[in-house]
Amino acid sequence: MQSHSYADKNYGALLDPEDLPRQWYNIVPDLPEKLEPMLNPHTHEAMGSKDFEALFPKELVKQQFSQESWWDIPEQVWDAYRRLPRPSPLVRAKRLEEYLKTPAKIYYKAEQFTPVGSMKPNSALPQAFYAKKQGLSLAISETGAGQWGSALAMSCSWFRLPARIYMVRVSSRQKPGRKILMETYGAQVIESPSANTKVGKRFLTEDPNHPGSLGIAISEAIEDTFASQNSRYLLASAFNYALGHQTIIGLETLKQFELLDIIPDVMCGCIGGGSNYSGFIYPFVRKKLRKKIDTEFVACEPKAVPSTTKGQFTYDYADTAEQTPLVKMYTVGHDFANPPIHAGGLRYHGKAPSLSLLIHKKIVKSIAYPQTKVFEAAKIFAMTEGVITAPESSHGLRYAIDEALRCKKTGEKKVIAFNNCGHGLLDLSAYDEYNKGKLVDWEPKEIALKQYVTSN
Ligand SMILES: *Cc1c(COP(=O)(O)O)cnc(C)c1O
Repeated sequence: MQSHSYADKNYGALLDPEDLPRQWYNIVPDLPEKLEPMLNPHTHEAMGSKDFEALFPKELVKQQFSQESWWDIPEQVWDAYRRLPRPSPLVRAKRLEEYLKTPAKIYYKAEQFTPVGSMKPNSALPQAFYAKKQGLSLAISETGAGQWGSALAMSCSWFRLPARIYMVRVSSRQKPGRKILMETYGAQVIESPSANTKVGKRFLTEDPNHPGSLGIAISEAIEDTFASQNSRYLLASAFNYALGHQTIIGLETLKQFELLDIIPDVMCGCIGGGSNYSGFIYPFVRKKLRKKIDTEFVACEPKAVPSTTKGQFTYDYADTAEQTPLVKMYTVGHDFANPPIHAGGLRYHGKAPSLSLLIHKKIVKSIAYPQTKVFEAAKIFAMTEGVITAPESSHGLRYAIDEALRCKKTGEKKVIAFNNCGHGLLDLSAYDEYNKGKLVDWEPKEIALKQYVTSN
């Protein structure tokens, strides 16, 4: 059959929907070193797949421990992707280049067009599908700013699976938009900390108006999952399977750049747990590890939560209440007091183990930005390209702009690509603060990390 893909260096590339990939890529077997196992929080013994099946759907546990490079995308998930719709466009930001007067070329992957406005359905859809297929009757999760919660609520409603979501209280009060979105999709939303769980009650006794945190919400969701019949916990990021699902982004991007006959020189994006950026770059990292390309990878994080730039690559808990396994990753500590910056999706203390390893091995670089610099970039992008980027995505955009400005000085014609993982139309209050000059920066003075595992 004839392909209806479209590519033009001036505009970007659109794939024929029939060219939507049929498999996800799993980087684990290609990593330069074996990933350290997750450890039981009490005994510090390595945990295996059996230890996770009471908490997560079976198929996701299988993917988590998989040593296979490619996972088939189930037909029903492929169909759901098509209806998001996917493939998403790769767009050339020509007006931005002209504004910057740079010889560099800037392309971005447009993940902001999903119904919920972010890339999160790429993993929420398969997770809801596998949970439903296993015959479960309830999905439980947590959400910070609400991007994961709204993607999960939508995905669960597509596959007719009830969902209960713990939402960080301060986020649900400050930005009620995504809470309304989740409820519109039919999910039950509970402000965290809540009186539903022991963990929640503990924090509420300390402070009846406790603002909550992602770490506390995770603890609540896990406790609730163990207490609720026939339910499982669905997790947004950091785990191997979530990163694997997100490679749909990078696999499409790879085909799009091939159609354009371009190898990008630089690929940047933001990291919260690491799923969107890993999904964007891993198919390219695979080629770099095989010495087929020499693309530079730059992960961007907020100065307020500097896991990879000021934290350590060590074992830490994934949640605040120390219920989860110990995970070897870049972290600023699970009891880190996350500051109220607007990029809610980047306010997580840890980063995905595989991405952490690649940063530790210097295959991926990382950089941190204060939020005023990030919003300055977002404003330039809005005025030139018209797109209101999510506060999270704007971190990757900041690097793209800085790199393009360096090219202006050196005359280099680099091709820069960033992942526009979401739009900011439900974060307009943040833009309002920036426009009024009220946005402030925040940086931790020192990061005190405990060592939980002393071997190796
Ligand atoms: C959730 C989210 C993030 C952060 O999560 P990752 O796992 O690092 O991708 C970043 N951007 C957007 C738009 C998000 O919704």
